[in-house]
Amino acid sequence: MTTSQSSSPIPCGKVYLVGAGPGDPGLITLRGKYLLEHAEVVVYDYLANPKLLGYVPKDAKLIYAGKKGGGLHAFTQQGINQLLIDHAKEGSMVVRLKGGDPFIFGRGAEEIEELVREGIDFEVVPGVTSATAAATYAGIPITHREYTASVAFVTGHEDPTKKSSNISWEKLATGAGTIVVYMGIKTLPSITKKLIEYGRSPDTPVAVVRWASTPQQFSVEGTLATICEVVQKADIKPPALVIVGDVVKLRKTIDWFERRPLFGQRIVVTRTREQASDLVVKLEENGAECLEYSTIHIEPVEDYTILDQALGEIDSYSWILFTSLNAVTYFFKRLHEKGYDSRKLAATKIAVVGRATGEELLKYGVRADLIPEQFTGKGLAEALLQTEVKGNRILLPRALKATEILPEALTDAGAMVTIAPTYQNIPPQGRREELRDQLEAGSVDMITFTSSSTVSNFLSMLGAADGQELQRLLNNVRIAAIGPITAETVRDNGLSVDIQPERYTIDDMVQAIVCYAKDNPSQRTKG
Ligand code: SAH
Repeated sequence: MTTSQSSSPIPCGKVYLVGAGPGDPGLITLRGKYLLEHAEVVVYDYLANPKLLGYVPKDAKLIYAGKKGGGLHAFTQQGINQLLIDHAKEGSMVVRLKGGDPFIFGRGAEEIEELVREGIDFEVVPGVTSATAAATYAGIPITHREYTASVAFVTGHEDPTKKSSNISWEKLATGAGTIVVYMGIKTLPSITKKLIEYGRSPDTPVAVVRWASTPQQFSVEGTLATICEVVQKADIKPPALVIVGDVVKLRKTIDWFERRPLFGQRIVVTRTREQASDLVVKLEENGAECLEYSTIHIEPVEDYTILDQALGEIDSYSWILFTSLNAVTYFFKRLHEKGYDSRKLAATKIAVVGRATGEELLKYGVRADLIPEQFTGKGLAEALLQTEVKGNRILLPRALKATEILPEALTDAGAMVTIAPTYQNIPPQGRREELRDQLEAGSVDMITFTSSSTVSNFLSMLGAADGQELQRLLNNVRIAAIGPITAETVRDNGLSVDIQPERYTIDDMVQAIVCYAKDNPSQRTKG
């Protein structure tokens, strides 16, 4: 989409105070997203969803400004102000990203006042504040003609029983129909006590919503008289909002977010390709929280000597063979880097292992001369052997490590095969600890596998010492496999399959998971 903004250059040496919204990254404004996409420096808070940093250019500087409402502050407020000033003075386009709306209990104005004092240019972009999001995502309209026509946002940061409190609880108790309290978990006992003391009925409904609009959203309900006990029992910690008023009654009709079929399910999605996963999008649409583990990471090889030499004398080759999508991608990447294009391949025939690889090749304007009937390396070898390969040069651009079946079969038949390492598979071991921690903590409901290689790569990434440890780690974790071959690989590894769709498509797999979850709610032992 083009906006009028995209043509106007973003001025440098300016600070944009941007509201990140309450938690769901989809709730940032278009203006906020646009600014993130053009940022040179981003100073972000604990409450701003880190997924939003995905919009920021790769070379931008990211600075975590720390946690609010308890815990360690990475920077003091003065330190944050200074960061903004220093970077703006260096001429950078700085985005200060704050949770919710920057001007609602966000100390945004303090940062701006400091910028004004220093003569630094600024702009403020509002955000969806957590009060409206928490109410909406908990099924509570904060105003309603039949219940209330007024709403008050207050902070519970200060204990209302303290003399220093600058909120007039006496007037507030009956003066506003709906009262939404930010930062009110610690002080909830004194807040409820004061409201009752100043005339609000102890039966007034109250809801408390934690991590609103995120997959971790958790909400409870009670009355002014009971909510403290409910919160204590549920062990609710910040960040959470307290919503007081008769509108809370509407929750039983309007609650929609937490009623989605996969809400509360934490699902590990394993992938072998780099592309964004259709499966993740569809599971999230149904309310699941997805933990994505890409079990293989593809990178260029360090040494392109063989491929470069082959490209230089490509006309002397009869065939180029592509045995994977990645081979096509990285081959053309290198071809382009060397200053050539597809015309360079005009005199050479091209064979691909299967239809998908052929389609990838077409993206570069090249149609495969040969696609075997059986989409495997062996199938490709057999198809090629039907042609005259003896004495011919054949180029095989492929992964650094691969099986030798194809080149051996061709060499045996008298072909001169050049194996050119073109890309490499790197198991991303970096996240092994994180994955193990999640499983040890019992905080995963399900793992999905969409191919046999996702199963084997996942298990090697997990690195369980033996079958017993594997069983222990995956105890209580359900396994979904897309089809019979994937399921067989799961079982070959001593595990059982709980969910398997009849048809082997992502849509059917999601449907099968939804059906399963309806009958089997989350059995997770820990959040
Ligand atoms: N500027 C922010 C508020 C910052 S004060 C805004 O407009 O939302 C921090 C408090 O906001 C937290 O203690 C909590 O009460 C509330 N809060 C922020 N995000 C929240 C979320 N996702 N769910 C529930 N409460 C949230």
